[in-house]
Amino acid sequence: MPQTVKGVVAREKGAPVELVDIVVPDPGPGEAVVTVEACGVCHTDLHYREGGISDDFPFLLGHEAAGTVEAVGEGVTEVAPGDFVILNWRAVCGQCRACAKGKPWYCFDTHNADQKMTLTDGTELSPALGIGAFAEKTLVAAGQCTKVDPDAEAAAVGLLGCGVMAGFGAAVNTGQVDRGDSVAVIGCGGVGDAAIAGARIAGATTIIAVDVDDRKLEKARELGATHTVNSAQDDAVEKIRELTGGFGADVVIDAVGRPETYEQAFFARDLAGTVVLVGVPTPEMKVPELPLIEVFGRGGALKSSWYGDCLPSRDFPMLVDLYRQGRFDLDAFVTERIGLGDVEAAFEKMHGGDVLRSVVMIEGEQ
Ligand SMILES: [Zn+2]
Ligand SMILES: [Zn+2]
Repeated sequence: MPQTVKGVVAREKGAPVELVDIVVPDPGPGEAVVTVEACGVCHTDLHYREGGISDDFPFLLGHEAAGTVEAVGEGVTEVAPGDFVILNWRAVCGQCRACAKGKPWYCFDTHNADQKMTLTDGTELSPALGIGAFAEKTLVAAGQCTKVDPDAEAAAVGLLGCGVMAGFGAAVNTGQVDRGDSVAVIGCGGVGDAAIAGARIAGATTIIAVDVDDRKLEKARELGATHTVNSAQDDAVEKIRELTGGFGADVVIDAVGRPETYEQAFFARDLAGTVVLVGVPTPEMKVPELPLIEVFGRGGALKSSWYGDCLPSRDFPMLVDLYRQGRFDLDAFVTERIGLGDVEAAFEKMHGGDVLRSVVMIEGEQ
């Protein structure tokens, strides 16, 4: 029987989100229905609401979530009802050319549920990143559910489903930060701070946080930054060079994704160093004018990091273990716990500098 539950929907471009009844079908073959426990509010949700991602309104927002599998459809073997899972937005196919080469974190054919969740009048919903977890329940592809230790706190580990994984993976998977490396991270929101935490866990000894907001820099220090640079006051490139013996950092991570910050990352890196772009640019942005001789002469690597080049089945359980062992402070990313009706207010707070993540807690009937 399809179920009617509450969900947060963006009906049209720019309009405030609404908490409405949505219909969640029973899981079909390869699908799962998940009872959502917690879901972080990510910039991407706001981006959907503003029409910055596609025009497929109405959207069912929310995509950084943890919950419990309620039911699975035919042929599902990877998870079972009762499993505590983190939802991922890349259920790898196992068959595309990336998967065939043994690099499933690049999978080019990730999939979502085949059936659609709807409004009560039958209008089909587009779930954000194929998840849609600002809802009491959601329908996903079973491969989007990654089973983890059920003793972990849902509000904290749900964040691994998007921003924290993206940042951590940008440092560890894409940037390949190693023991003794110097790392600079430009932009200290949730993604940047996760990159800082990742760099620390990987053994980097110099970790430079760059932002224009001192409150964010303070938080970055808590998560592992050894130095901070306020780029509204100081030249980020000069400061990073100064803090690395005049050379630049081994790995520079742009967690903002603007031409200016990318240029800073490019010039703040040591010879043969690595630039990682994990901040998401908008379609009209262009790579700044980089002299090709510098691109060649500086060597190294210019890389982009999509979802932290993560493999959920490999990375989520490992990160939950590190969290449970007190080695990765995921709780530090949870600034506040809110209800399903507070998503619009959480969007407002994103413009200030004091919220890393608002997390929607969903406990049965709202
Ligand atoms: Zn694939
Ligand atoms: Zn996100």
